[in-house]
Amino acid sequence: MPNYHSGGHRNGRPQRAGVRSFSPKPGRSNKGRGAYIHPSKFINKAVAPAEEVIYQASHTFSDFAFSPTLKHNIENKGYVTPSAIQDQAMPYIIDGKDVIGLANTGTGKTAAFLLPIMERLTGITVKPTVLIMAPTRELAQQINEEFRDFAVGLSLFSAICVGGANIDRQIRDLRRRPNVIIGTPGRLKDLMKRGELKLRDISVLVLDEADRMLDMGFINDIRMIVGATPADRQTLFFSATITPSIRLLVQEFLKDPVEIQTRTAETSEHVEQDVIEASSKEEKLEKLTKMLSEEEFSKVLVFGETKYGVQRLSDQLEKSGFKSVAIHGNKSQSQRQRALKSFKQNEAQIMVATDVAARGLDIPNVSHVINFDQPATYEDYIHRIGRTGRGSASGKAYTFVAPRR
Ligand code: AMP
Repeated sequence: MPNYHSGGHRNGRPQRAGVRSFSPKPGRSNKGRGAYIHPSKFINKAVAPAEEVIYQASHTFSDFAFSPTLKHNIENKGYVTPSAIQDQAMPYIIDGKDVIGLANTGTGKTAAFLLPIMERLTGITVKPTVLIMAPTRELAQQINEEFRDFAVGLSLFSAICVGGANIDRQIRDLRRRPNVIIGTPGRLKDLMKRGELKLRDISVLVLDEADRMLDMGFINDIRMIVGATPADRQTLFFSATITPSIRLLVQEFLKDPVEIQTRTAETSEHVEQDVIEASSKEEKLEKLTKMLSEEEFSKVLVFGETKYGVQRLSDQLEKSGFKSVAIHGNKSQSQRQRALKSFKQNEAQIMVATDVAARGLDIPNVSHVINFDQPATYEDYIHRIGRTGRGSASGKAYTFVAPRR
């Protein structure tokens, strides 16, 4: 792709985007909107070697005391060996311990908490028993889909309580007393306030992508919701990062937790990264259009900063003849789901997204991530480019930057 970027190798040597080498400019924080991220952070020519370290699981799924039906459903999903987080966290979750799982999206953490929970739920009559909180509607939806796949033949039911969807229907679902409630904090709080969501029988509480829920300002809602659950519950806490504020939450919500770390720095090392210089929006669009016409750009996730900008960019790409969908907070739940489906199924070559909308989504085989607008923080950058180069696949990420003067 040599025609579009600025060279990449500064000072004649490849630069890596390693976290360690980064120091923010004096007086600037690397948190929050508008923070400065040095362009060298978006360059990583040193793609990790092709031979990937294969995780050696110490358990097989049959080692766990799951019922034949659950085992059958696991097999049906094509899961043969447990992933690292499943292998390491499931024994503790089965034992009833509180667990902190430091794991990225795409590592199989959903099944790591769902399978032990579902095994435990079989035969239990007290409802609802499990509450799963996630930062976005899409993530909640994905957890629910996985739950339903595993629940075939088990007579276990879920209700999904997320914003942007019809609340009356959710109330109806809650009144049917589901075993598992999956929701986003804002909507869960609303349902509690209406007296429709009662949490006194919750025995397992899952906080998924807790770091993102904090970033999104859900802390007060989370505190209120967690406060309404029984103190003797089991708490499972998943986060990709562990910051001081996350530590505080852990101390507040978990008892004597086991910490499992399967997160590796490999996510970004894996991805070839480079910058593309452009001095205006028009130039960015022109260069982007050129790139997208190339065959290798088969499944491209483009990030923009604002809901409006994301929609406009997607419309512009459509006008230029590309099949593009947009996903952002101004879209209804069903619109977002339709967009996501068409991107996942390769009907749309391009999906343009905001950070919030794309967070946590599991989209296989993304060939390129393009940062049309720069991310607000380096952490957001890592999350964005983590959408490509999943597993053993190699991916590429390009970030538009202003030209050097
Ligand atoms: P998650 O991190 O839970 O979003 O999972 C990422 C993807 O990996 C999903 O598509 C899962 O269905 C898949 N997955 C999870 N666990 C396994 C496993 N043990 N074997 C194969 N695929 C898995």
